[in-house]
Amino acid sequence: MASLDIAVIGGGIAGLTAMLALLDRGHKVTLYEAAPAWGDIGAGITLSPNAMRGLDAVGVGEAVAATGMEPQLQHISHWQDGRVLREVDRSTTFETYRAHYIYIHRADLHQILVAAAEARGGRIALGKRLGDIDTSGEQPLLHFADDTTASADLVIGADGLKSRIRQLFDPQAPHFTGHIAFRALAPVSPAIQHLVDQPGMHIGPGKMVVRYPLRKGELLNLVFFARQDGWTEDGWAIPAEPGELQALYGDWCEDIQSMIAAVRPGTVFKWAINAHKPLAQWAIADKVTLIGDAAHAMTPFLGQGAATGIEDAVMLARALEDSATVAEALARFQAARHERTSFIQAESNANADRLQGSEAEMYGVGNMRNEETLGLFFYDCTTEPV
Ligand SMILES: Cc1cc2nc3c(=O)[nH]c(=O)nc-3n(C[C@H](O)[C@H](O)[C@H](O)COP(=O)(O)OP(=O)(O)OC[C@H]3O[C@@H](n4cnc5c(N)ncnc54)[C@H](O)[C@@H]3O)c2cc1C
Repeated sequence: MASLDIAVIGGGIAGLTAMLALLDRGHKVTLYEAAPAWGDIGAGITLSPNAMRGLDAVGVGEAVAATGMEPQLQHISHWQDGRVLREVDRSTTFETYRAHYIYIHRADLHQILVAAAEARGGRIALGKRLGDIDTSGEQPLLHFADDTTASADLVIGADGLKSRIRQLFDPQAPHFTGHIAFRALAPVSPAIQHLVDQPGMHIGPGKMVVRYPLRKGELLNLVFFARQDGWTEDGWAIPAEPGELQALYGDWCEDIQSMIAAVRPGTVFKWAINAHKPLAQWAIADKVTLIGDAAHAMTPFLGQGAATGIEDAVMLARALEDSATVAEALARFQAARHERTSFIQAESNANADRLQGSEAEMYGVGNMRNEETLGLFFYDCTTEPV
C-alpha cells in the first residue's frame, strides 16, 4: 500500500515499536504521547524470544540484548523452605529460537526505542493527551486535551490499559483482577548477591515473588505478587513501605526476608493488576485500530503483555504492506492476532492459579505448563501469515 499518514497514540513499548515498523515501510508517522516528558520507569521487564524477534525486526534487538542480561538458568522455589521445585534451563534459548531471552530495565528499553524512532525521522509529540476522536469525516479527527486537533489516514490506539481509544469500541473500564504487585529495584549487596546470580521466583499459596538482575547485575528487580479482595485506592504506582511486605511475607523463607531487607524505604510501589476481557472488534472500518494493552491488557503471569504488543506492531505494519486498502489490512491484522492474544490472556490467568496453588510442591510434579511449554516463544511476527 502507498505511504500513509499515521497517528500512533501512546509512546509505550507497543506504540514505539509500531512507529519503527511503520517508518521502515515508508509511512509518515506521528506519535502523540500524553506525558509532557519521558519519565524514569523504575522496573524491569523480561523480553521472551517472540518479543525479541519483533525487536530484531525493527532493528533494535542487538542494542536491547547488549544493554540487557540473558539468564542461563532460572529457579522456581518453595515459599517456605526455599527448596528448588523446578529448574528452567535458558542456556540454549538462542540455539532453539534464534532469538534471545532478555531482562532489561524498562527505562533502557524505552530509551533505545525513542532514539531509534527519532533517528528514523519519526515525529514524537509529547504532552498530547488524546481526548476524543471524530470518525465521521473522511479522515479521523483527533482532539487533544490542550485544545489542538490533528488528522491522519489511520489512527493506532497504543494508549495502554486505560485507553481512551478503546472506549470507542467498548465503554467498559478495565477490571481489577484480584492481584496486586509491589515493585522495587534493590541495589545489590553481599546479602543478596546469590539471588542476583541466580534469578527465579518463589511460589506459595496466593502469592509469589519474582527476582532478576538488571544493569549488569547492579540492581535486583523485585516483584512481590499477592491477592487482595477489591481495590479501593486511587491511582497507580502507589508508594508502599517495606513493612507492608513484612506483613504479607513474614512467614516466607530466609531469601525472601533478605530481599525485603534489601529494599530501600521510599522505593517500593504498589500496583493493582487490572486487565481487559478480549474485545470482539479491534478496528473501526478503515480508520482506527488498537494494539498492545489497549487491545488486550492481560495479567503478567506469563510475561507476555509487552511481547504481544511488539508482535502486534510488526504484524500490523506487515498487514498494511500486503493489503490493497486500510480496511483490508485492519481486518487481516485482527484475524491474525485475535485468537493468539485471547488465548494468552486466558492462560496468563490460569498460570497465576498454577503458580499460586495451595500446595507449592505440586508445581514441581508432572509436565510444566508455562509460556515456553505452551509454544509461545516460537511465534515469529516476521513470517506468521497475516
Ligand atoms: C508487574 C508487571 C510485570 C510485567 N512484566 C512483563 C514482562 O516481564 N514481560 C512482558 O512482555 N510484559 C510484562 N508486563 C506487561 C507490560 O508491562 C505491558 O503489557 C506493556 O507495558 C504495555 O505496553 P503498551 O505500549 O501497550 O502500553 P503502555 O506501556 O501502558 O503505554 C501506553 C502509553 O500511552 C500513553 N497514553 C495513555 N493515554 C493516552 C492518551 N489519552 N493520549 C496520549 N497518550 C496516552 C501513556 O502515557 C503511555 O505512555 C508486566 C506488567 C506488570 C503490571
